[in-house]
Order: sequence, then structure tokens, then C-alpha cells
Amino acid sequence: MPDKSEEMKKSKAKDIGESRVREEIRALSAYSVPHIETPVKLDGNESPFSLPPEVSDKVIRELRSVDVNRYPDPEALGLRELISRINDFPIGGILLGNGSDELIGMLIAACSGGTGRILCPAPTFSMYRITGLALGCEVLETELDRGFDLDMERMAAVIEKKDPDLIFLASPNNPTGNSFSADRIRDLIKLSKGIVVVDEAYSDFSGHTFLPLVEKHENLIILRTLSKVGFAGLRLGILYGRGELVHEINKIRYPYNINSLTQAAAEAILGSHEFVTENIQLIVRERDRVFKALSRMKGVEAFRSDANFILFRVGGADSVFKALVERGVLIRNFNRPGRLENCMRVTIGTPAENDSFLNALGSALSS
Ligand code: PMP
Repeated sequence: MPDKSEEMKKSKAKDIGESRVREEIRALSAYSVPHIETPVKLDGNESPFSLPPEVSDKVIRELRSVDVNRYPDPEALGLRELISRINDFPIGGILLGNGSDELIGMLIAACSGGTGRILCPAPTFSMYRITGLALGCEVLETELDRGFDLDMERMAAVIEKKDPDLIFLASPNNPTGNSFSADRIRDLIKLSKGIVVVDEAYSDFSGHTFLPLVEKHENLIILRTLSKVGFAGLRLGILYGRGELVHEINKIRYPYNINSLTQAAAEAILGSHEFVTENIQLIVRERDRVFKALSRMKGVEAFRSDANFILFRVGGADSVFKALVERGVLIRNFNRPGRLENCMRVTIGTPAENDSFLNALGSALSS
């Protein structure tokens, strides 16, 4: 017998959900990554490398000295000073977030006071759209061109007609993997009266950054993250911009957004970061090897990547995805109508993990 009070509770919850939750939110689906346990996990664009023992010891020593009974330093001053020194960037233009996801939210919340519109190309990282809608903005999207580069004609037309407050450009782009043409990004920075956010979550793997341009352009913001180079669990995103603008955005930051354990661990890690550079070089070499191997496979179209992952197309992506999981390899399936039809994204792992993926794909395609 169904429990009546349970049913009533459910129907009340539904009523509240329908009557109080904003329509834009009800229309959204949550950012979700299917949780499937497999021996080889190449779906999250994380680094496969954990901390080397000597750095791990250093981190543990630092964590022991943290007074967790006290609130963290609200300004994360020590960490911001270190980032400022490493990147030769003024500390007043550096803002930290609980992952760059939080910074995306802060940017939209603080800087959508003109037209209330944001613009991003499609396909791109989904959180620009989700956060924009969640914060009540109109989200405009322009499809990337056939080579996954920015379609300047369309973007320029939208900028002229709609004057978006913010434009989000992930370069290298997720999930396509390519960097957008530097000329096109520069033209958009000049063309836009609003803020242009160049999200460089994957720039460590492309070797290219727009950071030096911040000095020249008051409407340019750069986003970076530690998530892709070995520290996704720390949740640390970094925003670089002109001091005056960053000063305004900082006003809506939650006071203790970077917890004290993350502050201490990140200081210890960034203080001895040679191993990070070596790991990045290894990932880049592996990316090129996996790209070549994919390009040689019959029935596979691999797209060139500047990031730590590769997008590729196969016939019947959904069944290939399943066959890979059955063979113990998890990647990300992006198959949907349009530009990403039959496309999947594989994160570059250790050489052994990449071999497992290539073997599993070869076997899935021939079965
Ligand atoms: N920007 C891009 C382009 C991303 O792909 C991601 C992660 N998927 C993020 C930002 C968010 O990174 P973080 O872990 O720092 O929140």
C-alpha cells in the first residue's frame, strides 16, 4: 500500500517546485557527469598524475599547521601574492574562486547590468549558459564555423544588435579542443563594448595566453584554473583583470570562498611547480601520439586539439561509448544533433591509460 503522507509530501514538493522555482531554472538540466566506475577514467579533463611524494609531504606539513577552527584569510593574500609573483601580474587584478565555475558566476552576477545579455559560441563549456540563465540573463549563442573557429560575421552582428554585457570565449575550447584564432579574439575584444572573458582553462596545454593583453584592454578578463593540471580537487580558479573592474567584482565574493586547506595546499604546490610543467609536457606528447593513432583508425575523424583532451567522431557514437565502458574505459559522449553529432571526447591520461583507450576503441570498432 502506498504511504498517503509520503504521496502528499511529494505532491506538495512538486507544487512548490512549480510555483516558486523560476521558469528558466525549471527548463534547465543540471550540469551532470554520469557516474560510472571503470578502471580507466578519461572523461573529466583531469590530470592523471597525483602529487610527487616530496610535494605531497610538503603539502601535508602545511595542512597540519592550519587552524581549521578559524576562518580562512578572506583575501587569500599569501596565495594571491604568490600567483602575482609567478605570473608577473598586479595583485589588485587577481581574484580567486572556488573553481573557475564560481568566477563565471561572479562575473555574470556583477557585470550584467547593461543589457543583461551574455554571448557565447556553441558548442562550448555549458556553464556559461547555465549560470547566465540561472542569474536571469538572456543567453545568446552563435554557432562555431565548420572548423570550430569563431564565426566572426555572426558574432559581430550580434554584438552590434544586442550589445552583450559579457562574451565568453573558452580558448582552447571545450569540447572541441581547438584554440580560436588569436586575430578573431583580438577583433572581438576591440569590437565589444562589454566585457570579453577569455577562459584559458586549457591554455597550459596550448602554450598561448592573452594575459599580457589585459594591460591594454580594460574590457578583457582572463580565467584560469588549477583543475586541469593536477589539482581539480582543490577547487581553485583564478581571474585576472584590470584592478578597477576586479575591485567591483570582488564586492560580491563570498567572504571565505577559498577554504584554508586549499589556500595552504595551493601555496605549497605552486611554490614548487616544476613537476607541473613536466606533467604538462608529457600530456602534450601523449596528446599528439593519441591524435596520430586516432587519425589512422578507419571510421574515426579526430579533431586537432590544443588541450588535454581530443574530440573525435565515429559512426554510432552511442553504441561505441557503451562498448568502451564494457571494456573498462570511460570517456565523454557528446553525441547530439548538430556540430557534435556522433562526437566523443577523450581526456589524455597516462601512456598506459591511453593505450587501454586506443585498444578498447579499436576492438569496439571492429566488433
Ligand atoms: N572553463 C572551462 C572551459 C572548462 O572546461 C571547465 C571545466 N570543465 C571550467 C572552466 C571549470 O573549471 P573549474 O574546475 O576551475 O571550475
